[in-house]
Amino acid sequence: MDYYELLGVSREATPEELKKAYRRLARQLHPDVNDAPDASERFKEVTTAYEVLSDAQKRAVYDRGGDPLSAGGGMGGGFGQGFSFDDIMDAFFGQTQQSRGPRPRTQRGQDALLRLSISLAEAAFGVSREIKVDTAVTCEVCDGTGANEGSEPVTCGTCHGHGNVHHVQRSLLGDIRTSRPCPTCHGYGTVIPDPCRECNGDGRVRSRRSLQVNVPAGVDDGNRIQLAGEGEVGAGGGPAGDLYIEIKVARHAVFTRQGDQLACQVTVPMTAAALGTRIDLPTLDADREDLPDLERSVPIDVPPGTQSGETIVARGFGVPRLRGAGRGDLTVQVVVETPRDLDDEQRELLEKLAASRGEEHVDPVVGHNSRGGVFGRLRDVFK
Ligand SMILES: [Zn+2]
Ligand SMILES: [Zn+2]
Repeated sequence: MDYYELLGVSREATPEELKKAYRRLARQLHPDVNDAPDASERFKEVTTAYEVLSDAQKRAVYDRGGDPLSAGGGMGGGFGQGFSFDDIMDAFFGQTQQSRGPRPRTQRGQDALLRLSISLAEAAFGVSREIKVDTAVTCEVCDGTGANEGSEPVTCGTCHGHGNVHHVQRSLLGDIRTSRPCPTCHGYGTVIPDPCRECNGDGRVRSRRSLQVNVPAGVDDGNRIQLAGEGEVGAGGGPAGDLYIEIKVARHAVFTRQGDQLACQVTVPMTAAALGTRIDLPTLDADREDLPDLERSVPIDVPPGTQSGETIVARGFGVPRLRGAGRGDLTVQVVVETPRDLDDEQRELLEKLAASRGEEHVDPVVGHNSRGGVFGRLRDVFK
């Protein structure tokens, strides 16, 4: 790949621009701060590119179409390989740190968590939502270094770059040496004498952004959607963490959900339950705005003699399966309504019916019927 493209600079880039571009990429890709599987390979690529282009002689060979890595001579493995991230940063900041005590200013950012409330239909069929996120982003003024234009971090005078300060405490057992992070530099080993005014030396600023989140069909309450690299940018311009969107599904007035299964209750008059009937049941699809009316309901046959509490299954009218084909089922629990406020004619008809069935005097059946009866809770459907 083209070295200029790798570094994201033009062919006319100045040495200063090259340096800035490489520093930014190194901060994102160095294996010490980025554990993505391809980061190490990409880091080597941009390092090679910078090696060539930062050397005027090799750059000239490369621009003429030659092979600078053989023609330039004396490459010997390249300066980027085998050096730690701190070594490379130090090379840019012109300082040396012998101790491995100080912690790097550049760190991976934290993951962020956001909750998103959606309706049951949106969870079932998927939805695209714009959300607002408040996260730290790299300060553009100092490019994440935290130092004001033209200034650089210098070795801390308190800990002399070690990042730690030592204390000796006398005790009955003798002297006890303790060490703690240097209070002057907070353990970095360096201080920024002239901090960037935009970010106060942190290398980051808070920013409110809009993001489009695609919620896939079939998500359930508590599921998390991961948006890689959309979390908090790290201190010192380190790579961003991930953003997690936790889904909160609102309760539905009609349907209850368990996995890909839906359930609802439907109330029918006693006569209809006895004689049988066909009802047109609105499904969860009725909540969608992108479907023709035809597909918003399902005909349900209530067979003659249906008892209160009995269930009817409408196959394939449940929730679509996440990352899978097909849908769960919709289970309809029938509730039989006994008529109230009979008028004289209706009372007479019912009395005739009772006489015809020999039911004027009833010996009640005590105990539960096998289906759990009208008192069975809706969630019994799932047992
Ligand atoms: Zn800044
Ligand atoms: Zn210090």
